[in-house]
Amino acid sequence: MPDSRFKIMTSAATSGPGDAGRTGSWRVERPVIDYSRCTPARTGRHACHLCWFYCPDVAVSKTIEPQFDLDYCKGCGICAEECPVGAITMVAEETFAEGGADE
Ligand code: SF4
Ligand code: SF4
Repeated sequence: MPDSRFKIMTSAATSGPGDAGRTGSWRVERPVIDYSRCTPARTGRHACHLCWFYCPDVAVSKTIEPQFDLDYCKGCGICAEECPVGAITMVAEETFAEGGADE
């Protein structure tokens, strides 16, 4: 019989985009990557991808230039916190609404 204490771990392992709805509507800040600092983008090789690994909403792609799915990114900032080279900056959402920053 499965140990009920580990149910939450099972859930975390099988989560995917949309499990909690379109969490992007909650966002007050959005992550922006400086690709000149991002390891896979800079080297052209699949390396690092810690932003993909740590994102609780699977809202980062595991691609050479990681991309955010803004329908599901809730702006928690974990990816920015975990990026080992400081390539991700959290930028206020209102900056984009006013057209003041490139998307
Ligand atoms: S954690 Fe940082 S360096 Fe690593 S893939 Fe993501 S943005 Fe690039
Ligand atoms: S801020 Fe980063 S870690 Fe948080 S949901 Fe968005 S992409 Fe995922």
